[in-house]
Amino acid sequence: MTARVLVVDDVAANVKLLEARLSAEYFDVITAMSGAEALAICARAECDLVLLDVMMPDMDGFEVCRRLKTNPATHHIPVVMVTALDEPSGRVRGLEAGADDFLTKPVSELALIARVRSLARLKMVTDELRMRALTSRDIGIESPEREAVADSGRGGRVLIVDDRPASHERIAATLAAEHTVAVEADPNDALFHAADGNYDLLIVSLELENFDALRLCSQIRSLDRTRNLPILAIAEPDNNARMVRGLEIGVNDFLLRPIDKNELLARARSQVRKRRYTERLRDNVQISIEMAITDALTGLFNRRYMENHIATLVEQATARGKPLTVLALDIDHFKSINDTYGHDAGDDVLRDFALRIKRSIRGIDLACRCGGEEFVIVMPETDMAVAAMVAERLRRRIAAEPFAIHKGARSIPVTISIGIAAVRQNDDPAAVLKRADEALYRAKRDGRNRVVPDAA
Ligand code: GH3
Ligand code: MG
Ligand code: MG
Repeated sequence: MTARVLVVDDVAANVKLLEARLSAEYFDVITAMSGAEALAICARAECDLVLLDVMMPDMDGFEVCRRLKTNPATHHIPVVMVTALDEPSGRVRGLEAGADDFLTKPVSELALIARVRSLARLKMVTDELRMRALTSRDIGIESPEREAVADSGRGGRVLIVDDRPASHERIAATLAAEHTVAVEADPNDALFHAADGNYDLLIVSLELENFDALRLCSQIRSLDRTRNLPILAIAEPDNNARMVRGLEIGVNDFLLRPIDKNELLARARSQVRKRRYTERLRDNVQISIEMAITDALTGLFNRRYMENHIATLVEQATARGKPLTVLALDIDHFKSINDTYGHDAGDDVLRDFALRIKRSIRGIDLACRCGGEEFVIVMPETDMAVAAMVAERLRRRIAAEPFAIHKGARSIPVTISIGIAAVRQNDDPAAVLKRADEALYRAKRDGRNRVVPDAA
């Protein structure tokens, strides 16, 4: 997919120049001649990245950037400020407005393309997560936009990799004012240190004495545990090619020596904030996946998940000639619990019942609530004799210990009936489930509170 870049500048010639260069690299380019126009385009989600001129008559670039970054609907769009003033104070002002990076006029072609490519790539990852997280919002999970906009970016966990004490001591001292800082002075240990540490940001000096820092960056990107860890590289100003290479490898941001303290702090905050936002998006996606496969009341797997998964388990068992058993469980006279003590009391019983199930089975067993007060437990590598023992133990555990209801104000006796079926040669999942259900039906018919194995 081609990224669409919005070029904003009040001078037509500047717009034309950037447009031509970006188009030559196959970016999709749209343009705006004022801040207001740019804000409208971003609000309609029509671009992936903004190249923003600082000096504009009505609303300057700082203000446009600030508005974009404080709006939950647009804060995730990367903004590169294009500035004629190269002094650090302008940079810091821009970073504080939320800018992701800077280019200085006249804009170097190499830096422009490398920057835009790297930010567009990151935006696509975020977009993918946002899209999935929007689905989670549809099912009631709070979306992290508001928190992201309010996040100061302080209080992060930062790891500095730099083998020159004079350098890392200064960086650490500066960052310690806002973050928890650790230093790794041996680049050979940096990868493992980063993987073990649960950091929000990695700061790497590109001029390590005896180690190729870009190699380290690329290793960080290829390791599962550190793949999403932002990297801020510190570079000498005259090494443009190395910076471009870094961006290609996945370095998120650069800071040039001599280090301006405020710029270091501002860039670190910006990376920490972005990291937290994407982590929250990732968490939301994770929660929505869990919600899709679990039952909200009991936390057990739901019927849909069980039906999919049991197919795999039965197939594996029959292919390898291993035993597998299925328990069908049903609470006895559950309707009268609801009728006598209320629906909430019924829910309490269901929750506690699920808890007792979890305590009675192994990690590889699959417990699910199939609906109402009906449950299924699938037990791999378990034959009928062992399954009967497990079922009997569970039945006793239910019958022996009354269930607390009405917030513990009272407790009531509950019993369950269980049917068991073992998988046969060339069995199919629906058939095993059906035999377990038939055994359960016999348990009910024979008087409830009992375990009945499949007859055959
Ligand atoms: P049996 O011993 O034959 O299984 O009788 P039973 O009353 O347990 O079975 P029946 O299927 O007649 O009734 C099940 C009841 O479970 C009816 C339904 O209202 C109730 N129920 C289903 N889902 C829930 C739930 O999520 N919470 C509560 N509290 N009750 C539920
Ligand atoms: Mg029942
Ligand atoms: Mg029932």
